[in-house]
Amino acid sequence: MIEHTIASANKGLKEKQFSSVELTQAYLDRIDATEEKLNTFITITKEEALKQAKEADEKGDFSNPLAGIPMALKDIICTKGIKTTAASKILENYTPPYDAEVYTRLKKAGSVLIGKANTDQFAMGSSTETSHFGVTKNPWDLERVVGGSSGGPAAVAAADLACYSIGTDTGGSIRQPASLSSCVGFKVTYGRVPRYGVISYASSFDTIGPLTKTVEDAALVLNTICGHSNHDSTTPNILAPDYTNFLLESLKGIKVGVPKEYFEDVEQETVDTVIKGIETLKSLGAEIIEVNLPLTKYAIPTYYILAKSEGSTNMARYDGIKYGHTTDDAKELLDIYMKSRDEGFGDEVKRTIMIGTYALSSGYYDAYYLKAAKVRALMKREFEEAFEKCDVLVTPTSPFTAFKVGEKTDDPLAMYAADTLTVPAGICGLPGVSIPAGFDSKGLPIGLQLMANQFEEGKVLHVAHAFEQATEFHKKKPPL
Ligand code: GLN
Repeated sequence: MIEHTIASANKGLKEKQFSSVELTQAYLDRIDATEEKLNTFITITKEEALKQAKEADEKGDFSNPLAGIPMALKDIICTKGIKTTAASKILENYTPPYDAEVYTRLKKAGSVLIGKANTDQFAMGSSTETSHFGVTKNPWDLERVVGGSSGGPAAVAAADLACYSIGTDTGGSIRQPASLSSCVGFKVTYGRVPRYGVISYASSFDTIGPLTKTVEDAALVLNTICGHSNHDSTTPNILAPDYTNFLLESLKGIKVGVPKEYFEDVEQETVDTVIKGIETLKSLGAEIIEVNLPLTKYAIPTYYILAKSEGSTNMARYDGIKYGHTTDDAKELLDIYMKSRDEGFGDEVKRTIMIGTYALSSGYYDAYYLKAAKVRALMKREFEEAFEKCDVLVTPTSPFTAFKVGEKTDDPLAMYAADTLTVPAGICGLPGVSIPAGFDSKGLPIGLQLMANQFEEGKVLHVAHAFEQATEFHKKKPPL
C-alpha cells in the first residue's frame, strides 16, 4: 500500500479498496520501521494524521485528488498548534499560532498531515547536516546524505514514507535532494505559491513546492497550492492553469536548449547520464539546440552574497525575547540578545549572519551587495534571451551524486558547490524540476533538471512527464 502515488491512492480511495485511515496507518508503520535508520522527521503527527484521515473517510468525498492522502511538510512551514522548529535550537519549542497558507490550502483539499520533516537549519545547507536534530540519511546508502535543505521531504517521497511532501527551494533545496534521492522535486516560479507562514530564509528567492514520486503527482499538488493570496503581496494575480493539462507524451514542436556551461565540473557519470536523457527527449520529438549562458560562472558568488544578505536580516527577529530560546545566563538586555543567539543558532546560520552583515555594511555594500544585485539583473536578461530560442533548458541537477555524511561539513565552499546548477533558477525566480534520470556505478541516483521561463510551469511538466513515461528510473525503489 505504501508504494502508492497520489493518483493511484486516490483511485483506491474512490473504489473503496482501502480507507484513508488504513492508508495512513500503513505509512505510519513504514515510518516506525525506518525512522531509526533514516531520521526523516522532527515531529511525527500521528494523532493529527489519524484524525484527519478519519474525517476524510467519514466525508467519503474523494473528488479532490489530495483528499485523504497522507503527506509531510518541511519543518519550516508553520502549523497551528504543532511544533515548527526550522530544525533549529532557537525555535526548538516554537508552536505557531497560525497555519501557513500552503497548509491551509492542503487542509481544505482534505490532506492528511503525517509529520514535519527534517531540513537544514532555517533551510540553510545542502545536506540536512546543519539540522539541530541530526542528519537525514540517504535511503539508497545510509552512509550518505540525502541532500538538502529539504532532505526530510525528499526521503519521504523516495522511501515511501507518505504519498508526497512539501519542501522549499531558495537555491536548490527541493531539486538537489530530489536528485540525490531519486524523486521528482518541483520548484515553482517565485511568487507562484504564497509564502505566508513559511519561515523566511531569503525572501526574494524562497519558493514552496512538492516532492513526489511522479510528475503527474507534482501537477496534482500544484493545482492546489498555486495562485494569488492576499497574505503575500509577491503572488501576482495570474490565474494558475489546470496543470494536469500539460501531461502530454509527445515532444513534437518543443525546443530543448542545452547550455554547455552546466556540464563543466560535473562528474562524468552524471554528464553521460544527462546526455543519454537528452537523446531520449530527442527520440520523443524534441528539437535539441545549443544555448550559451556564460554568466553561469558567477551564479554561486552572486547567490551567496544576495541570499546570505537577506538571510542575515531575516535572522534579526530571533532575539531571545519575542519567541524561541532564551538564555538563562544573562544579566542585561544586550547579553540576552547575544547569548540567546549564540546558543540558539548553528554554525551555518552564524555564517549567514556574518557574510550577510558584511556584504550589507556601509563601505562594502557597493562592492558586494549592489554588484551582486546587478549581476542578478544581467543573469535574468541572459535567461530571457535563451528562452527566446527554446521552451525549456535541460541540465544535470547536481554536479555530483550523494556524498558521505561529514565529507563536506568542514569545507563550506565545497558544500556550496553542490548548488552550482540549481542556484541560477533561484536567482532568476524560474520554475524548474529534478526528475530521476539514472544511477551511477555505485547505484546512487542521478537527477536531470529542466527549467523554463517565469510562470511556464506547464512546459516543465510537459517535458518532464514525457521523459518519465519513456523511462523506468522513477520506478526503482531504494533497498531499505
Ligand atoms: N544550499 C543553499 C543555501 O544554503 C540552498 C538552500 C535552499 O535552497 N534553501 O543557501
